[in-house]
Amino acid sequence: MPRAGEMADVSSVLADLKLNTVCQSAICPNMCQCFARKTATFMIMGNICTRNCTFCAIAKGKPSELEADEPERIAAAVGRLSLKYVVITSVTRDDLSDGGAAHFAKTIEAIHSACPETLVEVLVPDFQGLSSALETVADARPAVINHNIETVPRLYKEVRPLANYHRSLDLISKIKEIDSRIVTKSGIMLGLGETREEVLEAMKDLRFSGCNLLTLGQYLAPSSQHHQVVSYVTPDEFSSYVRPGLDMGFSGVASAPLVRSSYRAVELFREAQLKDPSGN
Ligand code: SF4
Repeated sequence: MPRAGEMADVSSVLADLKLNTVCQSAICPNMCQCFARKTATFMIMGNICTRNCTFCAIAKGKPSELEADEPERIAAAVGRLSLKYVVITSVTRDDLSDGGAAHFAKTIEAIHSACPETLVEVLVPDFQGLSSALETVADARPAVINHNIETVPRLYKEVRPLANYHRSLDLISKIKEIDSRIVTKSGIMLGLGETREEVLEAMKDLRFSGCNLLTLGQYLAPSSQHHQVVSYVTPDEFSSYVRPGLDMGFSGVASAPLVRSSYRAVELFREAQLKDPSGN
């Protein structure tokens, strides 16, 4: 637990600038630690999602209107917290023709112009496989584009019913086609009923799609209404995925119970940069 007051900076900036974080909306177990370290994952385009993933605590339903000044408010928060690395994510906005890609691009550009030294990682939805949407985001030159496959293909129906495993893999390979300098990243939750063989297979699929960075973390049910936890994977089991992952060619693998998509994101990015500055 952080010492008194350590989280205040981030919390007051978020409240002041009326900003959402996935940390709060998804009830992330690392929030205290990250806020105390003055880092957070900003969530743009509201906190109501058009999808119905059974593991996710975020509200589902009719999303709110886009806020035109949100990119500038995010950039202001980045400046006030003097963040050198920032992660931007969003709910899925299937109600928007470009899935919100232009709003992502405006947010990246606003941060680049207000804080040129700050590296931006974006954790994007699948834009329903729309290449033009992905180009819009990639053209804004984020350092990292992250898209989680979340689980193994056999469990998609019960975990991510409106998503598609191969569409998510295609999105990652398309990023490399658009701009091979952009570092790609994905994440898998363990404990939903997958087998070790299925996880290793999914890791191979990600590498085949050109994914550079991988996160593996323990699924925790936000409530009894959400998908149940099928197993608690031990820290040793998590560690046992790192070597095979690096042997497959991932530049960085973060694998432990409390690892989340953007947990210690800057460390994983720096690790990859040291290993392979070209990002291939
Ligand atoms: S698409 Fe993302 S925000 Fe929406 S329900 Fe699924 S995990 Fe949650």
